[in-house]
Amino acid sequence: MNDGMMTVVQCWDDGVTTDVRVGEILRKHNAKATFNLNAGLHDAKRKPGWVFKGTDVVRLGLDEMKDVYSGFTIANHSITHPSLAKLPIDAARRDIAEGRERLQQFFGQPVLGFAYPNGSYNEEVMNAVREAGHVYARTTLNVPQPFPPDNAMAFHPCCHFRLDARICGRVPAWVTSQVYDKA
Ligand SMILES: [Zn+2]
Repeated sequence: MNDGMMTVVQCWDDGVTTDVRVGEILRKHNAKATFNLNAGLHDAKRKPGWVFKGTDVVRLGLDEMKDVYSGFTIANHSITHPSLAKLPIDAARRDIAEGRERLQQFFGQPVLGFAYPNGSYNEEVMNAVREAGHVYARTTLNVPQPFPPDNAMAFHPCCHFRLDARICGRVPAWVTSQVYDKA
């Protein structure tokens, strides 16, 4: 906080088609955001992702992702979205490091952030994320904490949500209200 202004750090997960609308809203408000993406889960064209509460969630195609995320920051969400704390650590390391590499190549920007898929992490996973070159990692725990966080590998959002099939993010409520009102 400074001069009465609030600093909002927000990120959105999974590279789904609702990010198109999210991006439009953020650009309109000159808001910065980070999108946490899985390099291994996108094809050239859009494809079905999963079903959530009876609604199909669709992943963006590689053919549109550079446009959809233009001007925003990209962070790594692993290659395949596993629960990393449940994987053998070597497999987790690979998923983390290659995910970063592939996103950097595709988007041509340094990837410094990580978001734990399914909020799954432990000490070894945090180390692997740090060793792969990330400077911070976001969890899914809704807890108040100072900004910047004490442990950059456990950066907790104060609002993590997964309200329905369309959006999953780690952001303030005003953004989601606009997505819902106008989508
Ligand atoms: Zn995710």
